Parts: sequence; structure tokens; C-alpha cells
Amino acid sequence: METADVVIIGSGIVGSSVAYHLAQSGCTNVLVLEREAHQGKGSTGKSMGGVRAQFSTPVNIQMSRYSIDFFSRFDEVVGHPADYRAHGYLFCATNERHLNYLKANRERQMALGVNNVELVSPAEILEMVPQLRADDILGGTFCPTDGFVDPHSVMMGFMLNAREHGVRLWLDTQVTGIQADPGSAEVPSASGAAFKRKAGGRQDADEPSALPAFEESRISGVMTSRGFISTRCVVNAAGPWAAEVARMAGADLPVEPLRRQLVPTEPFDQLPKRFPMLIDMSTGFHFRREGKGILLAWNDPEETVGFKTEFDTTFVEKILTHAAMRVPCLAEAEVNPRRAWAGLYEMTPDHHAIIGPSPNVEGLYFVNGFSGHGVMHSPASGRITADLILKGTSELIDAKQLGVERFATGRLLEETAVL
Ligand SMILES: Cc1cc2nc3c(=O)[nH]c(=O)nc-3n(C[C@H](O)[C@H](O)[C@H](O)COP(=O)(O)OP(=O)(O)OC[C@H]3O[C@@H](n4cnc5c(N)ncnc54)[C@H](O)[C@@H]3O)c2cc1C
Repeated sequence: METADVVIIGSGIVGSSVAYHLAQSGCTNVLVLEREAHQGKGSTGKSMGGVRAQFSTPVNIQMSRYSIDFFSRFDEVVGHPADYRAHGYLFCATNERHLNYLKANRERQMALGVNNVELVSPAEILEMVPQLRADDILGGTFCPTDGFVDPHSVMMGFMLNAREHGVRLWLDTQVTGIQADPGSAEVPSASGAAFKRKAGGRQDADEPSALPAFEESRISGVMTSRGFISTRCVVNAAGPWAAEVARMAGADLPVEPLRRQLVPTEPFDQLPKRFPMLIDMSTGFHFRREGKGILLAWNDPEETVGFKTEFDTTFVEKILTHAAMRVPCLAEAEVNPRRAWAGLYEMTPDHHAIIGPSPNVEGLYFVNGFSGHGVMHSPASGRITADLILKGTSELIDAKQLGVERFATGRLLEETAVL
């Protein structure tokens, strides 16, 4: 029978990062299962590739700080390119409320060591993108180390490196079930320290759980289209399909798929060759250069939850209206709707990732619900997950705050800087 110390379900950027970080820590008997014939067919292949430290909550700022530093060294450390481009993110405010919000975020970012976020005037904004309509812009913030990566390259780099260290990747392998046996409080250890933790890590002797009593169960394997795999540890890295995978183990996970659409223009030379990701806070419209064209993004408030991955052509007119309002010359940009695409954000109720052990299924770990930030936070989330599996704790952040328990106990974290 096939066995592995850790089985990772999903080989997108997050599963690949977990595999890489486990291997770096010496845990190499790892099997990654991917139902598609190629990596990157989920959200990772649809992403805009934006990375930024300009968040509003400490945990997101900390995760970005670690991750952006990692991206800046990725090629050297991982041995494969990430195509990190530090072109910056420029948030533009058109009212006092938004400006004060940016200023308060900047204070928080600086307190956490992100020292290079600048307050910028309308004149400075126009220097960066002279084609903007700036008559209503009051100011903004700019962080020069924010920017972009190539999500596909990052995912491949993580996985190639992990495989060079012995991690196995099975493509074309659908996980159809997770076997969880009735468990006990004690988890017999497998190969070393890796599995010496109590159920879901939640029953510290001096810390009674605030959760309702669950019937405990313990992972013993996964059923797949290629047969049964025996394991005591499963990582759910199934992106927008995470809730479905959690249900296979009898666990609840509040992650919902929400369609996001991106529209590239045809080659467009009326904007600078290089400029930051620019966010118009009055509408949420944002854009960046993508090769010779411009990549346009906007969060449609009318979008509803569901596994919808068809591009809706009526979106083109909506986004071009916002684009032309902020950047009048974009009214002349040509768009071929067949080159536009849609993908899925994996949303949680508080727009923060869920990272950590399941409280009721021993050996099941979540690394899900990135709410649009899974690419930029992939280095940190892989490292935190590997730490939690191997050591039961992570020095990077106080990982308890990202545990799924927060939804039962009401200790939500709200992130408002969601694009
Ligand atoms: C349009 C768009 C723009 C975005 N822009 C950004 C951005 O600028 N910056 C950013 O940080 N993030 C962005 N995101 C979000 C980011 O893409 C995701 O958060 C990230 O890719 C999640 O990675 P993942 O590995 O968790 O999921 P995925 O890439 O979806 O990978 C999950 C994998 O699990 C596999 N899988 C699922 N179920 C099973 C099963 N039962 N058996 C086997 N395999 C299974 C799937 O096939 C898939 O390959 C964007 C997303 C979209 C849609």
C-alpha cells in the first residue's frame, strides 16, 4: 500500500509552497495529489500576480513582509525564477475617510517593520502616472517594494525544488475521500516529532477549549482515483474547492468560491512602460502593465458566490467605464473579450486565510481561504503550515489567530484592504 508522512491535496501555489517548506525542514516523505493533468489549473493560473505589504491587519502585514522578502530572494534561494518586479502599489484616495484609512494603515505597517510606505501628494501621483484624472485625488500611499510575481513560475519553482528533495507529485489523481477513524486524545507519533501533537492542537492542558465538544476522529488515509494512500497527516490545499475537501473528512470550513474577472487590453502605448499597480479607491478599479497592454481589474459588487469560471462579456463595458473615468485615454484601449478570463477567489467571512489544524480531525491541516491573497502570501503560508505540522508552532506569526476556531468563537479578524 502507498504511504506518505504527509499528503497534500492540491498542487497550486499554496500546496507547492507547503511541499517546499516541508522538504526544506527535512520532511520529504510527502505526496502531493493533483486531479488535473497539469499544475496551475485552479486559481493560481488565473491570478493577477500582485504582491503587497499595504494591508490593514497586523497578521496580513506580517505575512506580506515575510513573503515579499522571500520573493526578492526567491531565484537564489529556490533556484528557479519568480519574476518578482518591485514596481510598487499606489493607492489613490478621493475622500478624507479613505486618506485617513491609508494613513492609519501606514502607521500600522511601519510599526511592523514595513518602513518604506510613502504618503504621496496628487502631484507625486501624477508624476508616476501622468495620464490619470487627478482633479478629485487628495493623496495616497506608495510602497516601492510591492509589485508583481509570475504565479506560475513561483508555483513551479516551489514544486521543482521540493521534488529535487524527494517530494512526490501525482498529477491526474483526484482525491475522492478522506478516511478518518474514531480517534483518541493521544496521537501516536509517526516518524519523529512531526506528529507529536494533540488533537487539532487545541487541548493545551491549561487552556480549556471554548468550542463545542466535537466527536474526535483521526486521519488514517485518503482515497483517490489511483487507490488508497495511508497517511496520518493531510494538508488541504485545494483552493476554492477547500470546503468540499474538508467535508470529506467530516470537517466544516467556511470557504466559498467567488468569481473574479480580469480584462487585458491589446497593446497600449499611451501609458508609461513601467508604473505601479494603481488602485482607485473611489471604485476599487485597479490596473497594471502586462507586457505591451494593460491588465484591468475590478471587484464587481454584484458578483455572487458559486463555481462560475466563464468570463461574462458584459463585464467588459462595466470595467471600461471605471477605467475611462480614472484614466481617460483608456477609453481608446482595444479589448478582445476572448483574451479576458475569470477565476475564483476563495473567500472566508473575515477575508483572512485559515491556516492550522482542524479542531475535530486529528492530522488534518488547513491552508485555505486566502480571499484573493494566496499568491502573495504563499511563502508565509507554506512556512507556517510546515512549522505547525512539524513543530506545532510557528515563529513567523501567532498562528492561533488564523485557526478555523475563530469562526466558532467569534474572534474574527476583518481585513478591509481587499481588492
Ligand atoms: C482573477 C484572480 C486574480 C487574482 N489576483 C491575485 C493577486 O493579484 N495576488 C494574489 O496574491 N492572489 C490573487 N488571486 C488569488 C490567488 O490566485 C489564490 O489565492 C491562490 O492562487 C490560491 O492558491 P491555491 O494553491 O490555494 O489554490 P489553487 O491554485 O486553486 O490550487 C488548488 C488545487 O487543488 C486541486 N484540487 C482541488 N480539489 C481536488 C481534489 N479533490 N483532488 C485533487 N486535487 C484537487 C485543484 O485542481 C487545484 O489545482 C487572484 C485570483 C483570481 C481568480
